[in-house]
Amino acid sequence: MGKLRCICGHNIVDQTDNISYKGYILSDTCVDEVSDILTDNIDSLIEANNKNERLDWIKKNFIVPPYPIDLKDSAMIHDLLSSKLIEKTQDIFECEKCGRIAIQVGLTNKFSFYNPDSDKSKGILDSKK
Ligand SMILES: [Zn+2]
Repeated sequence: MGKLRCICGHNIVDQTDNISYKGYILSDTCVDEVSDILTDNIDSLIEANNKNERLDWIKKNFIVPPYPIDLKDSAMIHDLLSSKLIEKTQDIFECEKCGRIAIQVGLTNKFSFYNPDSDKSKGILDSKK
């Protein structure tokens, strides 16, 4: 994404991995689909490995080359799952300056901003009571 300008003026930067103020929203309707894709890919990779058809499996799931053929099984499953999650999730950011939440609108490049009801320093309401 690059940068997202918050309503308060702060630039929310999204240029690396493992960002503490970034998250993802996965709709409840997509949880089973994503889970099935993960488990189906694990099953099919194990089966391909057992039948000595690993290279065919890699070519079926990735563009070889440039995709390498010497990765660990877990790395390939990670890549497949990551690409599916990118398709199915919305980005969510918390502005580090004002605490606003920015949620990606659908799968567009637009964001809706939500202002916290309470001051960040006054604590968080327990919604599970
Ligand atoms: Zn802000």
